[in-house]
Amino acid sequence: MRISKIIIMFLIAVFLTACDKRPKETVNEQQKTGAVQMCGIVKTDQEWKDTLTPEQFEIARQKGTEKAFTGKYYDFKGDGIYKCVCCGNELFDSKTKFDSGSGWPSFFDTISQKNIASVPDNSLQMERTEVICSKCNAHLGHLFEDGPKPTNLRYCINSAALDFEERKKPDK
Ligand code: FE
Repeated sequence: MRISKIIIMFLIAVFLTACDKRPKETVNEQQKTGAVQMCGIVKTDQEWKDTLTPEQFEIARQKGTEKAFTGKYYDFKGDGIYKCVCCGNELFDSKTKFDSGSGWPSFFDTISQKNIASVPDNSLQMERTEVICSKCNAHLGHLFEDGPKPTNLRYCINSAALDFEERKKPDK
């Protein structure tokens, strides 16, 4: 009886120690380097700065917003795929792009729900839904429910968070 009690106490102590340590190390590491892990891509702020322009870094890694009607894609009508500027994850097809009049590239659907994550954003005293790249956690923009049919959704995205790749024409 006494031995089993000791074993149980020992296991509880081990469990509590493990629980206590893990979050602290994660938070400290994130605070130190700015690295965030989603589905595999982890880079420090400095590593992102090495591959992004200052504008891309500010918007995609620091939740910035480009001024309306200034981004390179808001009035762009190319046929192809918009990828995450940070990691190349395929996000939007130009076939779902529409002119929202907002001054930012707008899409009514994603290439795959798996490629984008939505998180609540209560900054600026507003209740909004932030959309991020599910692969590298890049800030992309916001999601609104006033888009056109068939989804009635409007993904309002910063040009600086996107990289456009033209669709390949089939060989004749
Ligand atoms: Fe990404």
